[in-house]
Amino acid sequence: MKSFTYERVDTPAAATAAFARTKGSRYIAGGTNLLDLMKLEIETPGHLIDISRLALDKIEPTADGGLRIGAMVRNTDLASDARVRRDYGLVSRALVAGASGQLRNKATMGGNILQRTRCPYFYDTNQPCNKRQPGSGCAAIGGFNRILAVLGASDACIATQPSDVGVALRALDASVETVDVAGKTRAISYADFYRAPGKTPHLETALAPGELITAVTLPKPIGGTHIYHKVRDRASYAFALISVGAVVQRDGTGRVALGGVAYKPWRVEAAEAELPRGAKAVAAKLLAGAKTTHENAYKLPLVERTLAGVLAQAKG
Ligand code: SF4
Repeated sequence: MKSFTYERVDTPAAATAAFARTKGSRYIAGGTNLLDLMKLEIETPGHLIDISRLALDKIEPTADGGLRIGAMVRNTDLASDARVRRDYGLVSRALVAGASGQLRNKATMGGNILQRTRCPYFYDTNQPCNKRQPGSGCAAIGGFNRILAVLGASDACIATQPSDVGVALRALDASVETVDVAGKTRAISYADFYRAPGKTPHLETALAPGELITAVTLPKPIGGTHIYHKVRDRASYAFALISVGAVVQRDGTGRVALGGVAYKPWRVEAAEAELPRGAKAVAAKLLAGAKTTHENAYKLPLVERTLAGVLAQAKG
């Protein structure tokens, strides 16, 4: 690991000021992804700004009946919150499907949606990777890519975004609150939070340098049956090959988002109009334009079958 300096801050303003002051800065909260990346020298910040003590650890109701989740709320606390379990079951179930108990105790809301891809070549510094080293190439295209993207990819990168709770946030129309280094705040729709890889897969989100996530906001509850089904190579502590997050209403209408298929949680609102017609019709629209590799074509029928199971469970 390369040497770095460290400071702890008490307010978001102090965090962004420290970022602006010190070149090569990086925020650290739970550190469940960043520390691994630093040990492998995939990320080499010169200065760490510890934001884990910021008073952003509350889950509070919003004026319009929604819920505001502070960026420092731990995954375990969020998953077990009574309001989340009652009104946003998809969030709770997706969180519990991710990582391990120990990691969920450390990992934060803000860090969860910023976690980086699990493409094996991203973690292998002997291999070319446009995301890790822009312009170096992509070892995954033509390589071991059975876990990688079938939608939204480019000739430069076919990585997937691995967050489980991100699938729930997308289905529930969440937004991300931030403050930038000039002190300006804004809300970014979670639908617009991730950037398509294009020719610049190292640029992953809509955040500007130093822009700090302060909260994730959920709109008022939409009711319905909330189901998160994650398909993975082993029963726990594994990332999704694909996942389906769904909210299904009594009349058969609802919402669906997918994980493990693209650079972002994948939702196609037009596909949801097909929900009363069944999984095949929904999958056809959700997966329109899919481009598979020699190893990951299995994801397309897997999505349809998993969705069929989820819809049957919702009816059940
Ligand atoms: Fe790197 Fe993306 Fe290619 Fe994986 S798919 S090797 S992350 S450029």
